[in-house]
Amino acid sequence: MANGHPLTNVQQRDINAVLHPYTPLHKLAETGPLVMGHGKGVYLYDTQGKEYIEGMSGLWCAGLGFGDEEMIEAANEQMRTLPYYHLFGGKGMEPATELAEKLKEIAPVPISKVFYTSSGSEANDTQVKLAWYYNNALGRPEKKKIISRVKAYHGVTVMAASLTGLPGNHKGWDLPVDRVLHTDCPHYYRFGQEGESEAEFVARLAKSLKDMIEREGPETIAAFIAEPVMGAGGVIVPPAGYFAAIEPILREHDILIIADEVINGFGRTGNWWGSQSVGMTPTTISAAKQLTAAYAPLGAVLVPEDIYQAYVDHSAQLGTFGHGFTYGGHPVGCALGVKAIEIYQRRNIVEYVRGLTPTFEARLAKIKDHPLVGEVRSCGLVGAVEMVADKNTKRPFDPAHGVGSNLAKFLEGHGAILRALGDTIAFCPPMVITGDELNELFNRFELALADTE
Ligand code: PLP
Repeated sequence: MANGHPLTNVQQRDINAVLHPYTPLHKLAETGPLVMGHGKGVYLYDTQGKEYIEGMSGLWCAGLGFGDEEMIEAANEQMRTLPYYHLFGGKGMEPATELAEKLKEIAPVPISKVFYTSSGSEANDTQVKLAWYYNNALGRPEKKKIISRVKAYHGVTVMAASLTGLPGNHKGWDLPVDRVLHTDCPHYYRFGQEGESEAEFVARLAKSLKDMIEREGPETIAAFIAEPVMGAGGVIVPPAGYFAAIEPILREHDILIIADEVINGFGRTGNWWGSQSVGMTPTTISAAKQLTAAYAPLGAVLVPEDIYQAYVDHSAQLGTFGHGFTYGGHPVGCALGVKAIEIYQRRNIVEYVRGLTPTFEARLAKIKDHPLVGEVRSCGLVGAVEMVADKNTKRPFDPAHGVGSNLAKFLEGHGAILRALGDTIAFCPPMVITGDELNELFNRFELALADTE
């Protein structure tokens, strides 16, 4: 039985055979998996035929929605021409070349080379290895620590999960590993002190970062990694001036600035890159997710020329550049990346997202009046509603009695999918959603909110 109903055959088979990621495994048999059958546009249909508006683009990635015929055709064509090859040992493939050229063209800072991975976690893991390789190349073997932030999300490999600043990714997994530090989260609503202005909050965080660097020794710190707008930590938009305040401190100590654009990239925040929306100037960039609009797995690391030259020098000493994934630069993924960017450009997705942003903001603002809503926040078409036990004091729910997962369940009942990050509900609809569909998503959310009262 699941929620009082007998499990369907496919639900039972799923429970018998699949180990589900990010799932309370002990409750799965009780709730039953929600098994999706097919998707079209911003709508998904489960195997029972029930319709859902997908309000999270899957996992912040299906920016073009489902069933885009041009994407399907691009994949088919590449499958027929060359379904697989690799880039090891100096091999090449046209789709990998073309996508790298396109990424260089649209990158927010001058980029020389693109390294391909299969996922965002692998991109961030690669970033760390590259920062280490770079400092070894420069004869600075002690400059290896990476500063990340509380509430950051950078993935699940051993290093990416260590960079992540969420307790659930560390507890039970013997993480974080050494060489990883976490500085403050720039969430003013949660971490601003009594009577502190936003500007004072930013100054305090910058001072705290500076103190950390001095305490650890700048000669031991290789890089700082940040999502321009934090995603899985609760869609946290930094206060104005945050990156402008911290970047000079990092640059002064020759610390690389890594932008994790895995969620933010490709129009999501109303610019091509989240770093452009929040005034961040990165040294290197991680991309994934909307890179292919999730029609195939693909990640990328974008590096500038001077850093690339250090790899060249080091590989000359060592004999090779000893890093690469079997599927890094997969031709189908790259062909889909090329097609996705072409579609974003042709449909002017950045302008389209900007056009929808006032509706998105207005509907979030309306929810803010609810007695259980502490804060609403957004940047472009990514946003969140933070639910609290006490609106006046901002007191969060006791984790054992939070409302987030119930709310997400009620929402499924009303035919919409959003993600509960604890008691913060994230919104990240496909960027191609229409104004009417966006309003319908919020209508369904309001019904679910009424159910929690
Ligand atoms: N970085 C950010 C900002 C993410 O949101 C995610 C995934 O949600 C990752 C990295 C990890 O990407 P993946 O799940 O493709 O490994």
